[in-house]
Amino acid sequence: MKVVYSPAHLGHDVTHETYLGQPIPAHEVAERAEIIRAALQHDGGYSFHEPTEHGEDPITAVHDPGLIRFLAEAWPAVQRERLERPYLVADTYPTFRMFEGMSPGLAAGQPEPRSVAGRVGWWGLDTSNPLVEGTYQAARAAVDVALTTVDLVLAGEQAAYGLCRPPGHHAARSMAGGYCFFNNAAIAAEAIVRATGERVAILDVDYHHGNGSQQIFWRRGDVFYASIHADPARQYPFFLGYAHETGEGPGSGENLNLPQQAGLSDERYLVAVDRALEAVVARPGSVIVVSLGFDTYGQDPIGDFALTTAVYAEVGRRVAATGRRLVILQEGGYYRPALGQNTVAWLRGADGG
Ligand SMILES: [Zn+2]
Repeated sequence: MKVVYSPAHLGHDVTHETYLGQPIPAHEVAERAEIIRAALQHDGGYSFHEPTEHGEDPITAVHDPGLIRFLAEAWPAVQRERLERPYLVADTYPTFRMFEGMSPGLAAGQPEPRSVAGRVGWWGLDTSNPLVEGTYQAARAAVDVALTTVDLVLAGEQAAYGLCRPPGHHAARSMAGGYCFFNNAAIAAEAIVRATGERVAILDVDYHHGNGSQQIFWRRGDVFYASIHADPARQYPFFLGYAHETGEGPGSGENLNLPQQAGLSDERYLVAVDRALEAVVARPGSVIVVSLGFDTYGQDPIGDFALTTAVYAEVGRRVAATGRRLVILQEGGYYRPALGQNTVAWLRGADGG
């Protein structure tokens, strides 16, 4: 299988994130991608490819150009404003409750703040998203990794894997968050729709709901989003991911959320996978974009499912058995000792191994 990887992610070298107001050692660290790369190289059977540059157009196809501008300007602004911080995170966000009772036009028409402390909240969801000097270049490279993976599949590969870091599925049209800056999977899905004119399915098997992917395609009939994730009543991102969210307008019925209980077993997980895949194959299209996360693993420090390495091979097999071509993009997964073996298991399963 062909693998797309860029060392640019190493510039997003975060050491801490903020959790409930406290700095804690970061979970989404560069070592994650290096562990996966080393495991694939050691396993053999994978050829590594550098991403090619795709420019801004595929990004602005799903994101507000202001988000790109902010991410490009953020670190220079931190330095210009002499903020003595090792990383930038917001602590003030424009929550919808701030505008309660006011006309929707007022909130929509407010100007973007000038200071970077205000701007990082304006374009952000939460405090888990540390931004450092190399973040923008890393996030741009992750998009190019995703789009190059699309190129390989559209050129004839049955499946290809993009080792995206930072991940993407929490990033919405005008919002970074949850370790994500640009939505790699959404940008990939949109590029496939535009290149082929076909409908595309996103299958999101990260432990967390991909609120960004859902939001971007909420009113779209040509991109089906299916996600198996922790029930938002107990887990991040808390405010989206419920089963009753099924899309609106042309996208009505094109969003499938399958929220799950804590302690989820391999067996029950596969029931959810089958349900999602049934919905995928009931729709036309020849490509599935997989948002692949391993924070579903039993020992993950931020998850609470009980999955084992064996189930990942089986999930990979079942997804490949749809016969659709697969653009497989890395999202989360934070138990580093098993990250390599879990990725190898999934990709081998998808590759008929
Ligand atoms: Zn996750």
